[in-house]
Amino acid sequence: SQDQKQGRVAVITGASSGIGAATARSLHAAGYRVALLARRTDRIKALADELGDGAIAISADVTDRGALVAAAEQVKQEFGGTDVLVNNAGVMLLGPFSAEQRDDYRKMIEVNLLGAITATEVFLDQLKDGGGDLVNISSVAGRVANVGSGVYAATKFGINGWSESLRKELLPDVRVTVIEPGVVATELPTHITHEATRQGAQQLYGVAEVTAEDVAEVITFALQRPRHLAIHEILLRPAGQA
Ligand code: NDP
Repeated sequence: SQDQKQGRVAVITGASSGIGAATARSLHAAGYRVALLARRTDRIKALADELGDGAIAISADVTDRGALVAAAEQVKQEFGGTDVLVNNAGVMLLGPFSAEQRDDYRKMIEVNLLGAITATEVFLDQLKDGGGDLVNISSVAGRVANVGSGVYAATKFGINGWSESLRKELLPDVRVTVIEPGVVATELPTHITHEATRQGAQQLYGVAEVTAEDVAEVITFALQRPRHLAIHEILLRPAGQA
């Protein structure tokens, strides 16, 4: 990699697996310094160790504003500030709309939507200082809602609406890019609490051809465009998913 000491600094939430971990690897390989945030500290520490220079692991739950404030302070101290925030942490707790899933609904809104909003609010001063980038990981579910995905889609439609407003408010200081993947092979469906839905989803994800690395490359490409170009939105799907 290039000179890691000069590289832009990217903070990635949900960097312990899937798209977040792949994005950390991709950006680090492109010369970025990366701060890996997640709850599973062992995983982000192992990834930071693997990447070596210019990678730090910070244990943080995105539903805990105090933990995000502490993370922002640590990034400022160790890296001097944040240029890129990737709001990636998320859960997809699909299932039929019912009272039994009500804890899932609250969790998805708190992690996917409020978590991204809070992380952005906390890191915004650092992003504004010198030309920053905000990358919000939405989904195809931010544009299309299917049976059993209502509240998940609500969080991703929410991300899209909030991002559109924020982009108008923050450009040209901070670019806001929304990434909308279709099915990507990750751990995402394993946390579904509704048994039949989880089994169906895991079958679908088990044969997914699009990898977290595919998505990470797209994110890295978008971030590497010159400052006069802002990529607002990227929808990417498996070629077989109409
Ligand atoms: P993974 O389950 O592999 O990754 C989810 C990440 O989110 C983990 O690193 C997890 O870390 C983190 N996370 C979950 N809850 C919290 C929390 N409260 N605080 C901090 N981090 C949290 O799935 P993906 O990589 O697939 O998901 C990443 C994003 O991509 C999500 O926003 C998802 O909605 C989106 N997406 C995924 C698609 C797919 O098909 N896979 C398609 C479209 C969008 P930890 O548990 O260690 O905290």
